[in-house]
Amino acid sequence: MAGEREQQLRAYVDYLRDMGVHDFYRRGEPMLVEGDSESLAAAVPVAPPAIVVERLAESVAEMPEDDTVPSRPAFLEPPIAKLVSFDDLAPLPEIRVGPEHKAAALVAIQDEIGDCTRCPLAYAGRRKIVFGDGDGNARLMFVGEGPGADEDASGIPFVGKAGQLLNNMIQAMGLKREQVYIANIVKCRPPNNRAPEPVEANTCDQFLLRQIDVVQPEVVVALGATAATYLLGVRQSLSGLRGRWHKCRGAKLAVTYHPAFLLRDPRMKGEAWKDLQMVMKELGLTAPAKV
Ligand code: URA
Repeated sequence: MAGEREQQLRAYVDYLRDMGVHDFYRRGEPMLVEGDSESLAAAVPVAPPAIVVERLAESVAEMPEDDTVPSRPAFLEPPIAKLVSFDDLAPLPEIRVGPEHKAAALVAIQDEIGDCTRCPLAYAGRRKIVFGDGDGNARLMFVGEGPGADEDASGIPFVGKAGQLLNNMIQAMGLKREQVYIANIVKCRPPNNRAPEPVEANTCDQFLLRQIDVVQPEVVVALGATAATYLLGVRQSLSGLRGRWHKCRGAKLAVTYHPAFLLRDPRMKGEAWKDLQMVMKELGLTAPAKV
């Protein structure tokens, strides 16, 4: 098996073990080692978890006609791959955290996350868990996709090139970075900066959801399609989501381009500015005078 695939498989097996799944079946007939049938029989688990059987059956049904190896076997598909909006994940808390308790409430969530090994990203080379940054009493919250290399090294969201552009966007709205709250869909860096897998986002979302419930921003801005998809629980093009208000945990949610995308295609900055102006109008913000 190629090194990277083996690493991915090992990470996924470790993850399943952490989730309490210890029995695994190989696809097809087991290879019999001559003279070893007894020990092999003893090694075959008697009752595999239902989810493994289900996945195995699906993966066999999905096996390609020819003998090519799919990039990821179907039985490795994450068991939790359903898209659910943050509003449908849990009811809003009946008791809201008061302004004076928000900082402590955020620390409590961070403590609970600890040195997290709940999803495969813990085994995929992450260095620091990137919890979130900013004012726990912010009126405005930005949600990105997941940490990149700079964030993974520093433990702070949006500190790389995309972060510098986000800082500029915040300034252009008449705010300072310290006045907003910034977090990501996942708190650990996905390898090679790929988008978070559903199992990763769906494992991490409980913490982001609670961060939003503590901060209680008036407006959430989803930066890019990945953030919008997971927050809203819909898979829709960015253009279909921009320019109107959505709902998220009692806040109004706007969707705009991810700053990393704007770095690649600066022509779209004007469009992003329209999205931010919609947010500014809602929050009664005015752009600072040009000097
Ligand atoms: N991109 C993101 O989505 N989040 C970060 O924190 C940095 C880059």
